[in-house]
Amino acid sequence: MERKRSDALMARAEAVIPGGVNSPVRAFRAVGGRPPFLASAAGATVTDADGHAYVDYVGSWGPALLGHAHPLVIEAVERAARDGLSFGAPAAGEVELAELVVELVPSIEMVRLVSSGTEATMSAVRLARGATGRAKLIKFEGCYHGHGDAFLIRAGSGAATLGVPSSPGVTPGTAADTLNARYNDLDSARACFESHPGDVAALIVEPVAGNMGCVPPAEGFLPGLRALCDEHGALLIFDEVMTGFRVARGGAQERYGVLPDLTTLGKILGGGMPVGAYGGPRDLMERMAPVGPIYQAGTLSGNPLSVAAGLATLELIRGDATLYDRLEALSARLDAGLQEAIDTTGAPCSMARVGSMSTLFFTPGPVRDWETASAADTAAFARYFGAMLDRGIYLAPSAFEAGFVSAAHTKKQIDRTIAAARESLAVAFEG
Ligand code: PMP
Repeated sequence: MERKRSDALMARAEAVIPGGVNSPVRAFRAVGGRPPFLASAAGATVTDADGHAYVDYVGSWGPALLGHAHPLVIEAVERAARDGLSFGAPAAGEVELAELVVELVPSIEMVRLVSSGTEATMSAVRLARGATGRAKLIKFEGCYHGHGDAFLIRAGSGAATLGVPSSPGVTPGTAADTLNARYNDLDSARACFESHPGDVAALIVEPVAGNMGCVPPAEGFLPGLRALCDEHGALLIFDEVMTGFRVARGGAQERYGVLPDLTTLGKILGGGMPVGAYGGPRDLMERMAPVGPIYQAGTLSGNPLSVAAGLATLELIRGDATLYDRLEALSARLDAGLQEAIDTTGAPCSMARVGSMSTLFFTPGPVRDWETASAADTAAFARYFGAMLDRGIYLAPSAFEAGFVSAAHTKKQIDRTIAAARESLAVAFEG
């Protein structure tokens, strides 16, 4: 497929933006080739600068639960824009959005809005450290919590050993405060706690992992983390930036019935506009300035446009009694069709899915953690990705991402996707 305009734009972009992109994965380095530049998006379709339309499973990396450019969300943003873009002062919409978050997310009594998921996780960890007076953070290898220094640490030689920086620019001091455990492995989390008794401020986890591909929590994993945190006096942080309003109306904590101390949100909460949030019980949240001494602030926090988009989105989510059933039915159809494509082509692949987030792993699986996820045949995935793009299907350009079905996808689009996948799997593994 020729994309002359996109290619010309990328050439210009590479001269003035590192790698031509404002977020690395968009550059397609993991799959080769050059990315389409997108010009517009509506429903489940994105259209590139050359006029090619694609069925979209990226959904702006998660926010587009209702599909792109939902008319009521756009209308709300337009209305808000006419009243001014940013005040840096309290406004009514922020209160309404906070009330809605408190209503929908089981463990949240108070919430603070920020402008990205990264800000949300950084702030939640600062709160945990400030509240406990402890320094260490436990996270899981293969989970992603934004680009804050404390999170960019991969595991060292063992799960309980000190981390080493996996990005230059992260200091050894910061790395030493982050402990890596193995996802779905309670023993490795316990070992992290036991190697630093009394020093662990918080354990942060994606309650359904989405950033090594979609990896569901094993039976007992989330309750086990809850118990470990209680035993060691550490706070449990669910990073629901991706899973919030996605795997259930109240996020993974509602779906699995396990309540964290702190929750981070983003993506769907902003309805496509930049937003993040962190929340929890009143006594913890009131440790934050201006009530308490722990500092966190933001010029554009709670800006009227993000709030308007988020409010319109959450109101649609709250008011639609069958939304999650429809998402489940569409996603199950896609899941079953892709599994059948795997079976009929004999591709050494496996499916994983929780609600409307899923991954076709390029390894037979089952995928439980980063070690099993990273066994993926990335070269075969790159061929599959290119073949799907040529067939008008827009997937995340990495073997280690979740795909998202939206309420705007149609059965016809799902079936087209399955047919394209059957052909593309054959392309990926031929020869
Ligand atoms: N946490 C999780 C679970 C995420 O998936 C992401 C983004 N993919 C982030 C945090 C960071 O959010 P943002 O990109 O908005 O900073």
